[in-house]
Amino acid sequence: MSNAVTHGWSIDVEDWFHILEYDRAPDPTAWRRQERRVHIGTERMLDALDRGGVKATFFVLGWVAEVAPDLVAEIARRGHDVGSHGHLHQLLPYLGPDDFARDLDRSLQALTQATRREVTSFRAPGFSLGPNETWALPILASRGITLDSSLFLTSRAHGGFPLDRTRPFDVVLGNGRTILEVPVTPLRVGNREFAFSGGGYLRLLPKPLLQAAFQATELRQTPAILYLHPRELDPDQPRMRLPLTRRFKYYVGLDGVADKVAMLLDRFHFAPLAQVAAQTPRDLPLVLDGAA
Ligand SMILES: [Zn+2]
Repeated sequence: MSNAVTHGWSIDVEDWFHILEYDRAPDPTAWRRQERRVHIGTERMLDALDRGGVKATFFVLGWVAEVAPDLVAEIARRGHDVGSHGHLHQLLPYLGPDDFARDLDRSLQALTQATRREVTSFRAPGFSLGPNETWALPILASRGITLDSSLFLTSRAHGGFPLDRTRPFDVVLGNGRTILEVPVTPLRVGNREFAFSGGGYLRLLPKPLLQAAFQATELRQTPAILYLHPRELDPDQPRMRLPLTRRFKYYVGLDGVADKVAMLLDRFHFAPLAQVAAQTPRDLPLVLDGAA
């Protein structure tokens, strides 16, 4: 262990067919007919975390809590934080405020029922909370969400929120209310930005470079926020028929993820996101329009 930086470990719990390819992936009415595999990667993740003695934050789809409540109860039973990843994995720009609130409420009901705990954290599908979707933050706060991890602080396929912050920060919502943001931040080298801490970036990076990226964030005394999906620990999942570039994005490097997970657990400190935020000095607050 190199020094005292504690990084965040998060998992977005969804199945192999919940990829963000609306024209190719099955729509929600067909989800129950798909082969269900979410437990495979989730159980592998739980076992790896147990071996490493690490607790994490699991952002779970409400739909998963409805069809596999025992799996979600097991995540909570093993001492991890359970947050919401929405109910039907819909991107915020397509939902708008009213439908977002409805989808969020459904997810919170299913998750609370499965875990018998209050749910106080949230991550938007595809990190789709961009500068045009800040209306979602007061809605989250009104539902008792105190920690959000929907902001990906560089531009990306489904939005992203380019913002010059490297650590968790408060979002000021007005009427004295705030919500704690634990964003995914890229590594900044000179004036270039490299995402590395999850998804396709993590799968594509060779293990030594992944390790070097975590070490570089430690030198800056900032936490990295790791994000993975159960399907990334399930290399035998069925493959969706996609154009070549999209296939690459979803399926590159699946065979190496278990090994990278073991390396990270062995070499670095990790904790659930709320704990990371509690241990890290806050970055500058973000004041939303109309909240000053
Ligand atoms: Zn997702």
